Order: sequence, then C-alpha cells, then structure tokens
Amino acid sequence: MMLGFLLARAGIDVVVLEKHGDFLRDFRGDTVHPSTMQVLHELGLLDGFLARPHSEVRTLAAKIGEELIQIADFSHLPTQAKFVAFMPQWDFLDFLADQAKRFPAFRLLMETEATDLIHADDAVVGVTARGPDGALDIRAELVVACDGRHSTLRDAAGFQMIDRGAPMDVLWLRLSKHASDPAQILGHVDAGRIFIMLDRNDYWQCAFVIPKGGVDEVHARGLEAFRSEIARLEPFLRDRVHELTSWDDVKLLSVAVNRLDTWYRPGLLCIGDAAHAMSPVGGVGINLAIQDAVAAANVLVPRMTRGPATVEDLRAVQRRREWPTLMTQRVQIAIQNRVISNVLRSTATPKPPLAIRMLGQFPTLRRLPARIIGMGFRPEHIRH
Ligand SMILES: Cc1cc2nc3c(=O)[nH]c(=O)nc-3n(C[C@H](O)[C@H](O)[C@H](O)COP(=O)(O)OP(=O)(O)OC[C@H]3O[C@@H](n4cnc5c(N)ncnc54)[C@H](O)[C@@H]3O)c2cc1C
Repeated sequence: MMLGFLLARAGIDVVVLEKHGDFLRDFRGDTVHPSTMQVLHELGLLDGFLARPHSEVRTLAAKIGEELIQIADFSHLPTQAKFVAFMPQWDFLDFLADQAKRFPAFRLLMETEATDLIHADDAVVGVTARGPDGALDIRAELVVACDGRHSTLRDAAGFQMIDRGAPMDVLWLRLSKHASDPAQILGHVDAGRIFIMLDRNDYWQCAFVIPKGGVDEVHARGLEAFRSEIARLEPFLRDRVHELTSWDDVKLLSVAVNRLDTWYRPGLLCIGDAAHAMSPVGGVGINLAIQDAVAAANVLVPRMTRGPATVEDLRAVQRRREWPTLMTQRVQIAIQNRVISNVLRSTATPKPPLAIRMLGQFPTLRRLPARIIGMGFRPEHIRH
C-alpha cells in the first residue's frame, strides 16, 4: 500500500490487489515505529495519521522475575515522533489507502487475489488474478510481490527462502482493559514464560510465548490451566481470564525468520514479508516493510516516470534493503537464542542479565535499543 501510494503520487499507474474484502483481520501487528512516522511526516501525513485512535509508548519496560526494568527510551530520537504508536494495522492500511485514492494513478482492487505470474520470454509481465467478477489478467511493467510471509507470487517465481529458524511460537489473545489497570506494561519474563501485553486503549493485546511446536502441549494441559497461568503472571488479569471461552480465542502465530537470497527477476520484485519474514522480537515487521517500500520508490520513481525498471534497478533495491534486514535478523536471532530459548527452558525465576541491568541503571544507555527498534539500521527518507 505504501509503495502504491508513493508510485501513484509520482503519477505512475498502480494497481494494488488485496485478496480480502477489507483489512479488518485481527491478531496482526500494530506497532508503528518512529521511522515509519518520520516517513509519514516527510509526506505531510503525520498529523492525519495521529488523528486516528492510537496509543503512544515513549519507554519500554520489562518485568524480569520480580524486577521491573526500563529498557528503551524513545524520547531522544532525532525524529518527529519520539514514541511508538500502537494502531491496529487495519486502521493504518485504511488510512494509507484513503490517502492513495486521492491520486488518479492509484487503483485498489479488493477481493482480488493474485494467483500466478504471467511470463513472456524470461520476464514477468503481469499476474493472473481472481476477483469478484471472475478471473482476470493484469499486465504490468513491474509486478511487486508484497503479499506477505506466505507469498503466492514469490512461490510462483520459484524463489527459495533461507530459513533462519526460531525457537518459539506465539499465542495471541485479547483481554479487556479496566480503568484501574496498571499503566502500559510490556513484557513479563518468568520461569519458562514470556508474556507481552500491548495497550490497545480498551483492551490488552497479549502474546504468550511458547517453545516452537509447543501448542499441542498447551492445549493438552487445558484452557483452565492456560487461564491460571496468565493470572499467575499478571494477577490483575485474574478477574477476566474467563473471557477466553475456547481455544478459538487464542490464535497461534508460527514464528518464522527467513529471507530471500535474490529479491527480484526481470519484471518482478519482492519486498516486505514476501522477501523476509521477521521475528516478532522488537515488533519491527511493519516498519521494515514500509522501509522497503520507500527504498523501492526512491529507486523506481525516477526510472519508471521515464520507462520500465531494469534488473539493475531491482538489484539496487535489494542492495539497499538487504543489509538492514540482515542486521535486524541477526539481532533478533541473538535475542531468540541467548535470551528467549533460555527463559523458555528455565524452571527458576530468571534474574536480569548484566546488559539489561545496565539499561535499568543508566538512562542514557536506553537510547541505543530505542534507536535500533525505533529507527532501524538504515532509515529511509522520501527522496522524490
Ligand atoms: C500475529 C502477528 C503479529 C505481529 N505483530 C507485529 C507488530 O506488533 N509489529 C510489527 O511491526 N510487525 C508485526 N508483525 C509482522 C507484520 O505484520 C508484518 O511484518 C507486516 O505486516 C509485513 O507487511 P507486508 O505488507 O509485507 O505483508 P502483509 O502485512 O502480510 O500484507 C500482505 C497483504 O497481501 C494480501 N495478500 C496475500 N496474498 C495475496 C494474494 N495472492 N493476492 C492479493 N492479496 C494477497 C494479504 O491479505 C495482506 O493484506 C506481526 C505479524 C503477525 C502474523
């Protein structure tokens, strides 16, 4: 949607396909980071974005065992918005779609699913799709596969992913929020358990981290045991864990960390989750997808206002975004392997490691994780 917006803004004809009838799917990420808001600011869209219901988080804290430790402080970032905005992803997408529709070059086809690539000689020249009125072919100078972590178009191109593995899966659930609840709580790390709570104004979006493939074991222990576990981790939730009435209220996110070796071929470019699924560590997936879109537009706009993009242009997009993707995944994998795996295996109440203790004691140090999470390794800026 962001790339569609940026290309249409430059007068380049864009058709965005969305297989669903709306963007209203629950249990998707909702952290919009300072890097993304900086892009919105550069586009003159930040005030409009922030006028939508959201909550703002300026510092991140984690409860490790019984100790509450401050970990990141976004208030010193050199960006317009010095906080993480929590906004349901469908609101953000609706907002971007509304903005993009202002441009005559933009078309959004809802309920239209890309089913395959169309080739001519060695190049991709369009997609086949299935819409409300049946099958259609859409020809294009460039197809951008931004169809998520289970990308149909990436698979149709025969691209192979490099899988980096993950030691955990995540169970997502929501519980109501009461006025008397403690202020923003983010993570609670305890013996064998990691529980994250995201403030969505009138409810808590919660992530219960389990060992990879451990969902059957959780189910086997029963829903009552699961409810009690949550109540033990956060006693103030005890009065509402009954809101989980069946396992349908608890969705499994199978965590994957992977990336493509090559993001393109003539006429086709993969970006976002289609090119690299990120670990949930740091909640950076949306923001990296947006950064890919901005980097792609910075390369494609000057080229495509004159003619088709070349393979060198597509390679330039990958070169620009591969390094920040790799660096982010390296940090995520280090945290997964050194912290999360150990916690999930442990039976004793964990003690904060030295590095985390230092963050708690020296406020200035908290600016570093804020920078990595909030801005990423290579923040992109609107160039055209
Ligand atoms: C449970 C969960 C929680 C997450 N939490 C966070 C978080 O807190 N913060 C964060 O930054 N990231 C989070 N993420 C990751 C984040 O959602 C993704 O990294 C980000 O959405 C990737 O954006 P994208 O545009 O590449 O792909 P997606 O957001 O997956 O978008 C792909 C779109 O393409 C559509 N589509 C798929 N196939 C087709 C097709 N064949 N034809 C037409 N349309 C198609 C889909 O319906 C979808 O709307 C989370 C992910 C999950 C699953």
